[in-house]
Amino acid sequence: MLKEASPRGRILTGAPLSDFTSFRTGGPADYVVIPSDEDGIRNIILLAKANEIPYYIIGNGTNLLVSDDGFRGMVMVIRDGKSDVSYEERGDEVLITAHAGASLAKVAYDAARKGLAGFEFAAGIPGSVGGAVFMNAGAYGGEIKDVIVSARVMDTDGNVFTLDRDGLELSYRHSAVGERGLIVLDAVFALTRGDTEVILAQISELNAKRREKQPLEYPSAGSTFKRPEGYFAGKLIEEAGLKGYSVGDACVSEKHCGFVINKGRATSSDIIKLIREVSERVYRNSGVRLEPEVRMIGFD
Ligand SMILES: Cc1cc2nc3c(=O)[nH]c(=O)nc-3n(C[C@H](O)[C@H](O)[C@H](O)COP(=O)(O)OP(=O)(O)OC[C@H]3O[C@@H](n4cnc5c(N)ncnc54)[C@H](O)[C@@H]3O)c2cc1C
Repeated sequence: MLKEASPRGRILTGAPLSDFTSFRTGGPADYVVIPSDEDGIRNIILLAKANEIPYYIIGNGTNLLVSDDGFRGMVMVIRDGKSDVSYEERGDEVLITAHAGASLAKVAYDAARKGLAGFEFAAGIPGSVGGAVFMNAGAYGGEIKDVIVSARVMDTDGNVFTLDRDGLELSYRHSAVGERGLIVLDAVFALTRGDTEVILAQISELNAKRREKQPLEYPSAGSTFKRPEGYFAGKLIEEAGLKGYSVGDACVSEKHCGFVINKGRATSSDIIKLIREVSERVYRNSGVRLEPEVRMIGFD
């Protein structure tokens, strides 16, 4: 049935989702489907709906914690099938259209090589375009909201339509895409003309900052917690005495307390226990409730 729905796509049965997440943890999904095109995405969604099969979309899996029991249903992976980017001049700006599965880093470097500025902040975020729109990803003072013009999306009935920037309702790690259960197909960003050398230098500087401050040598999902209004999660965690605190191989990074890392053989159960414990202890210490930024799949 799935093969008919997405004849050119890939279908895996019982594949471990640890292969699809940057935490490198997570049990199997009944099915993992990697559609090759938009028709494949639509057919699979309709098939899942008609047969009441739960489904979940994964981009690059860099903001996900999947339960060790995995996911009962179907996971559709939308990543890098088509990373071609198209460009269109619009007055002083250039509009770039990128497929949801394209990596943000690739889009950022392609734009830089074309002498287009505005996407530098995204070059070190390891997600896909779709995941970045869903999360309104951001770093170093920039966020998707600043550069996006619109996104083409599909709803659960397979209808495709365009949401402009306002319609996407982007705010801190939030979007209408998540709220309404939509699938991002592609997105248009408006960039300005600049100098390739300067833009590439800016990207290098930001990436160097990341390497210096973040534990990129370990699997993680980036910042584990959202930034609470008026505070920094990492600082609150450090002040609660939790630097290096661990459950099994899941550990609060000593380099950056805002990151939970997998030191080798952590399970998702270790990670979730650590997240809960950190939240609780920070609350007791500071009265601030930390909320996970990482999206959870397959947990009760
Ligand atoms: C080392 C490291 C550094 C990071 N640094 C940053 C940072 O500086 N700033 C930042 O904001 N984030 C950062 N992150 C987190 C992560 O990269 C971002 O949240 C990114 O936007 C997630 O994209 P993704 O494709 O990996 O999404 P996934 O993790 O696969 O999914 C995240 C959410 O998006 C949804 N989704 C994914 N693709 C689609 C689609 N096509 N349509 C609809 N929904 C979709 C999923 O269902 C899920 O709910 C970092 C992560 C790591 C590992």
